Amino acid sequence: MIEVGEAGEGFRSGFVALLGRPNVGKSTLLNQIIGTKVAITSPVPHTTRTRVRGVLDREDCQIVFVDTPGIHKPKTALGTRLNETASHTIGDADVCVFMVEANSVIGSGDRFIADRLPAGTVIAVNKVDRANRKQVLDHLASAARDLGIEEAEYFPVSALTGDGVPELVEHLVSRMPAGPRYFPSDTVTDVPEAFYVAELVREQLIRHAEAELPHSIACRVTEWEWPRIRCEILVERESQKGIVIGRNGAVLKAAGIAVREQLAPGAYLELFVKVEKSWQRHPELIERLGY
Ligand code: GDP
Ligand code: MG
Repeated sequence: MIEVGEAGEGFRSGFVALLGRPNVGKSTLLNQIIGTKVAITSPVPHTTRTRVRGVLDREDCQIVFVDTPGIHKPKTALGTRLNETASHTIGDADVCVFMVEANSVIGSGDRFIADRLPAGTVIAVNKVDRANRKQVLDHLASAARDLGIEEAEYFPVSALTGDGVPELVEHLVSRMPAGPRYFPSDTVTDVPEAFYVAELVREQLIRHAEAELPHSIACRVTEWEWPRIRCEILVERESQKGIVIGRNGAVLKAAGIAVREQLAPGAYLELFVKVEKSWQRHPELIERLGY
């Protein structure tokens, strides 16, 4: 990689991978660390489909955080792709952060991932705001016993409130090797703007549409002529179209308003719903969608 910006003596830098079962709070942690929203989050598993990189830039250190789709047993071509993305990230990282939830037991899904992680992995026990002290301590003990990761380090955190996050970040900084700035200091993320807008649309649709739908939705920006942004929403079946549009367009309208609030003033967002039959099962379409 190319060195950008001045990075003096003693400067550290590196890559940190955020891993864990779907829905444990990886994207929320990334946003908390970076201090701005770079990854969409939701209560629905598998919201993150790509690697999202967030850059933490300090005077002494730059850490590139890589948020991954949760690793899980794949059922579709999209699922397989998500697992591959996560596995590559492990290989490229200086330190892996494995996230588990303080308010649920460590299960086979966690162990499936733990088996793929290197020694020295940092274990973040998240959602401590949802658990009492004793549950957190029990959880730390069972993680140490059941995950079987050598030389693991443990941090209780709340990605939502930020509790424990500074301690985790300091530890990660101390683990970074000497190195240059990989990105200019003012970089927050390397997610392309158009892709980010498509993700914002998907996030709002997941929030506003009905429960069965989220995994069937894909979004892509097809035209970007500021202030006009055209975004297509793909669904898998004709019957899903109505759900995304909502009664008298209510769902689409609510989603559009919520997305616009997050864009620069003046943005004009056009949303179109299209049926793309079973897109989740077609690897080349997944590739084109950028997942
Ligand atoms: P990911 O799939 O691992 O990226 O998980 P997300 O970051 O999308 O979070 C999944 C859900 O858990 C969202 O509804 C978050 O608001 C919630 N969440 C994440 N971190 C915390 C936390 O520390 N405390 C609580 N109470 N909820 C959290
Ligand atoms: Mg995520």
